[in-house]
Amino acid sequence: MIIILKQNASKADIAKLEENLRADGLKTNLIEGVEKSIIGLIGDTAKIDLDNLYAQDVVDSVQRIQETYKNPNRKMHPEDTVIKAGNVTIGGGSLQIIAGPCSVESEEQILTTAAAVKEAGATMLRGGAFKPRTSPYAFQGLRSEGLKLLIKAREQTGLPIVTEIMSADDLPLFEDIDVIQVGARNMQNFELLKELGKTQKPILLKRGLANTIEELLMSAEYIMSGGNKNVILCERGIRTFETMTRNTLDISAVPLLKQKSHLPICVDPSHAAGVISLIEPLSLSSIIAGADALEIEVHCNPQKALSDGGQQLKPEAFNEIMKKIKSLCGYLGRNLG
Ligand code: PEP
Ligand code: MN
Repeated sequence: MIIILKQNASKADIAKLEENLRADGLKTNLIEGVEKSIIGLIGDTAKIDLDNLYAQDVVDSVQRIQETYKNPNRKMHPEDTVIKAGNVTIGGGSLQIIAGPCSVESEEQILTTAAAVKEAGATMLRGGAFKPRTSPYAFQGLRSEGLKLLIKAREQTGLPIVTEIMSADDLPLFEDIDVIQVGARNMQNFELLKELGKTQKPILLKRGLANTIEELLMSAEYIMSGGNKNVILCERGIRTFETMTRNTLDISAVPLLKQKSHLPICVDPSHAAGVISLIEPLSLSSIIAGADALEIEVHCNPQKALSDGGQQLKPEAFNEIMKKIKSLCGYLGRNLG
């Protein structure tokens, strides 16, 4: 439920109203906008006496939120959420390009790739240290050693780092990580989401392989209801009957999520397509669709990659795509970084 406040409502009266609502066991979230201020209410709003509410001087109108997701809902927070991660901000008009290898494989590999993506204009570095692999016999990641190498790459390039967590038990290892990624396979690992909700870390939440947009928003709700509002939603393609691409990029999810939610949206064209030749057109169309960030896999030597070799760009190919991204940003009047 949201309460729209009268324009002339005094701060003291608003605070009094919030106090009364909290005394009724509800969580309040005051958002002071330029046009109007609102109080978002979360909890058992069924017991609220509407007549009583309307009788309060500060209340202009009351609107029930029908959707199951409340915290990520744009009705609760009309303005775009902007998330700070290291020295960059995600959401609110800028565009972040997160680039790097699928997996961190060695010091040389991550440092070389990090320097190359930085040179091409990437604004953040990705790399998996804990890898969710279909086969238990496939490379599982360098784990804590991989996180240390990412931190070294950040020291050398200044790029904030994004890396995946698979278990809440590993959370202490992620203290010095800028953005924690929840991969597609863990989008509905509710215990993990609850633990991440207790932190204030930016979370890049990827859409599950077979999950609806509403389910993605409900997973964001898990994190946000715990107190962590720093969630970035990521469209990375979903399973369909199509076999020519690894997944199908649901491009309509981008403007739809923008309409339904105030959270920043990232698109991962690499895992969506699984095909190098599609990364450029999918990147450009995602920006036009309204993405706040892109996550693109780049490897200094993809032929030797220990995971996802077929979809990782060589630095030169990434550089060519970055040139197009930069000119599109110029045309759209958007800032890179
Ligand atoms: C990844 O980003 O390396 C990854 C495993 O992605 P996803 O969870 O989208 O498959
Ligand atoms: Mn990958």
